[in-house]
Amino acid sequence: MNEARSGQQVSKTEEDDPTATKPDGVERRAPATVQPLPATEREADFAQPEADLIHVLDRGFVRLVDFLGGDMAVVEAARVSFGQGSKGEERDRRLIDYLMRHEHGTPFEMAVFKFHVKAPVFVARQWFRHRVGSYNEISYRYVEVTDEFYVPDRLRAQDTKNKQSSVRGAFTEEEHARGRALIEEAYRACYARYQELLAMGVARELARIVLPVGMYTQFYVAYNARSLMNFIRLRTGEGAQSEIRLYAEALAEFFRRRMPWTYEAFARYVLARSDKA
Ligand SMILES: Cc1cc2nc3c(=O)[nH]c(=O)nc-3n(C[C@H](O)[C@H](O)[C@H](O)COP(=O)(O)OP(=O)(O)OC[C@H]3O[C@@H](n4cnc5c(N)ncnc54)[C@H](O)[C@@H]3O)c2cc1C
Repeated sequence: MNEARSGQQVSKTEEDDPTATKPDGVERRAPATVQPLPATEREADFAQPEADLIHVLDRGFVRLVDFLGGDMAVVEAARVSFGQGSKGEERDRRLIDYLMRHEHGTPFEMAVFKFHVKAPVFVARQWFRHRVGSYNEISYRYVEVTDEFYVPDRLRAQDTKNKQSSVRGAFTEEEHARGRALIEEAYRACYARYQELLAMGVARELARIVLPVGMYTQFYVAYNARSLMNFIRLRTGEGAQSEIRLYAEALAEFFRRRMPWTYEAFARYVLARSDKA
């Protein structure tokens, strides 16, 4: 297994942010950090020189590949009903506010985000439950799996109240280190068996069955802003698993940067309400 845990480099933003570690013990990557792409061969294949990139977990990322529309696309779509366009910033922002508050969803479909994501398979599996979007995933029938596996920094204990959730737990530093070592050992063993099967001439599509859900995968996903908001609302929620929540926060950051008026209304009328629910 590749021991280089590149994602553990702490960005300046994280150092400055005392809330970077949340109560569940999972280290939060600061979503505002834009860094150059890792220089592995495979990622270079996908690379775009000026692309926005946010690192997530130890080896994952979200990259904004493409973006269509914006706040004004929402405004123009909503006003086309009356044959009108922009009426100046104040009234345009008020319109977005109104649309969000009254759940008029279709104008928000006029903006589209396309992301390139690198995430562990267990995260992708939760992610792909969001049907209103377009996906393309790397094929491990076609290419060989690289030795890239997610190793959490901190262990989490089973939540006894919410059976689907986890809590920080009372692990000592030694136990955290032991947990990481156990995980790495299991990955190494699985990856070695995978390599042995390939060396025997077994097909990639069959050899991969020995690999764990902590292995990284990559995919493209395109969401319109309405669908993106649904994803962010559900996957930044308290009930969501910490790992996918970090990816949702990265998506939220791209959303905030590209559609600030819409994001503000979304935070006020949707996220704030779902926090209270
Ligand atoms: C905290 C959490 C825990 C979860 N736990 C589980 C679990 O234990 N097991 C499990 O199987 N899943 C689980 N899920 C997945 C969840 O049930 C949804 O499948 C997932 O969140 C996608 O949500 P969505 O349907 O709103 O999104 P999308 O599929 O993107 O759909 C967006 C919206 O389009 C509409 N829509 C889409 N398809 C249809 C349709 N066929 N009919 C009618 N309307 C449609 C709905 O309004 C929907 O909200 C969990 C999700 C979360 C956030």
